[in-house]
Amino acid sequence: MAVDSTLLNTMRVAKETVVAIEYTLKDDQGNIIDASGDRGPMEYLHGAQNIIPGLEQGVDGLVAGDTKNVLVPPQLGYGEYSDKLLQLVPLSAFGANTPQVGMRFHAETNLGMRVLTIKKIDGEEVTLDGNHELAGKTLHFDIKVVSVRAAEPTELAHGHPHQSGGCCGGGGCGSGEASGGGCCSTEEGSEGGCCSTEEPAAQKQGGCGSGGCGCS
Ligand SMILES: [Zn+2]
Repeated sequence: MAVDSTLLNTMRVAKETVVAIEYTLKDDQGNIIDASGDRGPMEYLHGAQNIIPGLEQGVDGLVAGDTKNVLVPPQLGYGEYSDKLLQLVPLSAFGANTPQVGMRFHAETNLGMRVLTIKKIDGEEVTLDGNHELAGKTLHFDIKVVSVRAAEPTELAHGHPHQSGGCCGGGGCGSGEASGGGCCSTEEGSEGGCCSTEEPAAQKQGGCGSGGCGCS
């Protein structure tokens, strides 16, 4: 039986649509940094700054089924790398915890709440890096638009999509997040927070803290 093409969903990605995309993210050398892969498509509310600006611009106007290579320069991604975001703290600041290079945690800084990474440990001196791990990098996204639909009024009010598990599952914390973890799980330590390593790289940092988890 022939498919009536007029029944196909041809809604275009625009402000106030909920979009699901599959993506593979590579660096300049072609190394895969992140991919939606097993997590399934990443769903977000278009025009609500759920994802980095360069990717959002790249998806704009597409329809379900479209594929595209989107090149995102640092300034439309995670910003330029800044030495000003490096700081030294004494080992004693960690108290009973044993810091390790690569460890990440949330901390209040001059620039507000940020995710800090332990970059170096030199004797009693620990170097913390407040840059996003993808700061300064040009991002190469291979994307495929899986679906586009009109956002519900509550989604517009909350600024994130609601699906598959309500606010948390489909919300600011990333619908693509592994189902076992999730930002609202109690198993996560207070230091970990929702912006753990599970966070999809395409998602804007801080999306978790902006009320995504608080609503029901
Ligand atoms: Zn919500």
